[in-house]
Amino acid sequence: MSEYDIIIVGSGPAGLSAALYTSRANLRTLVIGKDQGALAKAEKIENYFGLAEPISGCELVENTKIQARSLGAELITDEIFHISWNQGFVLEGRQGNYQAKAVLLATGTSRKKADIRGLAELEGHGVSYCAICDAFFYRGRKVAVLGNEEYAVHELSQLLPVAGSAVILTDGKEFLAKAPEGVPVITKKIRSVDGEDAVCGVTFEDGSSLETDGLFVALGSAGAVDLARKVGALTDGRSIQVDETMATNVPGLYAAGDCTGGLLQISTAVGEGAKAAMSMIKFVRRDG
Ligand SMILES: Cc1cc2nc3c(=O)[nH]c(=O)nc-3n(C[C@H](O)[C@H](O)[C@H](O)COP(=O)(O)OP(=O)(O)OC[C@H]3O[C@@H](n4cnc5c(N)ncnc54)[C@H](O)[C@@H]3O)c2cc1C
Repeated sequence: MSEYDIIIVGSGPAGLSAALYTSRANLRTLVIGKDQGALAKAEKIENYFGLAEPISGCELVENTKIQARSLGAELITDEIFHISWNQGFVLEGRQGNYQAKAVLLATGTSRKKADIRGLAELEGHGVSYCAICDAFFYRGRKVAVLGNEEYAVHELSQLLPVAGSAVILTDGKEFLAKAPEGVPVITKKIRSVDGEDAVCGVTFEDGSSLETDGLFVALGSAGAVDLARKVGALTDGRSIQVDETMATNVPGLYAAGDCTGGLLQISTAVGEGAKAAMSMIKFVRRDG
């Protein structure tokens, strides 16, 4: 596993802006992005500094990737599923694991959420967002994973060795990954997550139901809030909580851009990325 000074999860404006500063500070920087982020759909940007002519979101990102690479940053395409701490941050991706002294979460804002009755109310009482963290509590018990992509299969893989039984629920969506042998995939739309003090099952829109002791939410890809929660960083459920230096409550973990909330614009993301970079440079030089 290669070790970096800094790993930036997200290759949008916040992540790339940070990479410009950390690589110019001569810190070994890896930027991991899974796709073009929010700007993939932005056909015309005309409110960002220095644009004589409007430019597409993709072009803006691609130009900055060239700039970051030319300054020494390493950029790769991968999807991160999990972050933990073991004498440094360890990031688990689809293609492998990565290690760093400091990490910046710059994964944008998640637009995928499940609006299912009972889900929010039962969070922490059978509804979990971290299989590695909570699998132990479900030894020999029935669990369900809510999701329809590779991230759901990753979360399931943490549960299978300990749970009594496991099932994948896609809440009406097509299942886009490959389920491990013997694990049922139920694609029916979910009406509610049931239970008074703790989850006891789910009811589907067709009136049928499924008993389960735990529901692990793994919708779409792991978003910033999912990743932050896994390593113990505070969130308000939608955004990561940071101080004025873009630091989270976990030493060495920073966040910038749309994932911290506020004004969801390129200029904010770029500014926060720069600020986070300066804080990470200080952190790595002092503690690394
Ligand atoms: C259609 C549209 C038009 C817009 N137009 C404008 C505009 O004209 N002007 C303006 O200022 N702003 C505009 N915005 C807002 C702007 O795009 C965002 O504010 C900005 O992109 C936020 O940057 P970011 O780096 O925080 O996140 P993003 O740009 O969303 O980048 C997130 C990055 O994280 C990566 N990522 C996410 N999860 C993972 C994971 N698990 N593993 C690895 N990588 C991951 C993504 O692949 C991506 O690289 C627009 C947004 C949209 C949707």
